[in-house]
Amino acid sequence: MHRKIEQYKKNIEHKKINFLSNLLYPPRCPICDRILRLSDSAERGCCPACMETLPWVREPACMKCGKPVGEEGQEYCEDCRKQAHAFDRGTAAFTYTGALRHSVYRMKSENRRDYVPFFAKTMTTALARYLPRWEPEVILPVPMHPGKKRRRGYNQSELLAQEIGRRTGLPVEKELLYCTRAVPSQKTLGRRERLLNLRGSFAVRRGAPAFQRVLLVDDVYTTGSTMDEISRVLRETGVESVFFVVLCTGKGKKAVCTAKKV
Ligand SMILES: [Zn+2]
Ligand SMILES: [Zn+2]
Repeated sequence: MHRKIEQYKKNIEHKKINFLSNLLYPPRCPICDRILRLSDSAERGCCPACMETLPWVREPACMKCGKPVGEEGQEYCEDCRKQAHAFDRGTAAFTYTGALRHSVYRMKSENRRDYVPFFAKTMTTALARYLPRWEPEVILPVPMHPGKKRRRGYNQSELLAQEIGRRTGLPVEKELLYCTRAVPSQKTLGRRERLLNLRGSFAVRRGAPAFQRVLLVDDVYTTGSTMDEISRVLRETGVESVFFVVLCTGKGKKAVCTAKKV
């Protein structure tokens, strides 16, 4: 009897906490961070005004890395015309611009994990046309060094991957890839320096299941050096095809932003 009363008290307490947390943390628009109406939260995941201005990557897009390219009929972006990549092909939901850029920063660095479901939904939309052709067997998030993950509390690529896995029904292997060392900041480096900086930073766990076709998930694609280094490591273990989906991609050199209003 006493145990039942205790359980009852606990349940009430749990309900109170949920109620308070909804009051304290109502769902917010991932782009402008305003409080969402319940219907917007359920249907779109962002407010109608922001939905209109999202910088979706539109065709024409690079047939290798998925960056928008300036002109119709141009198959590859400036970057991909100049250098080969170790991955097969990738796609992105958005260009890394404007309010979205700030939003991604908040998701990564200000603990806004509540943005993940909306962003993963947009990435799944970007993926939809490619999945039947790519046929990946597994989703692999780009790993984060354990020290960084401990400080941040989470790896946003892992959270995005899990949500994309839930939406697509594809399995997610969080532990297959790992970081062997902390990578110094890449921000000020060019592509060549980035690749050198990254060399040997990723590895595949011993005894991990073997796959032939994999889909990498990351938040931002810049020069592609991370994707290339991971692809190189994966291919050494027998992976044949490496695809990726990212939330945002840089616009590429001289490429024109093709963001249009939805
Ligand atoms: Zn908004
Ligand atoms: Zn490209």
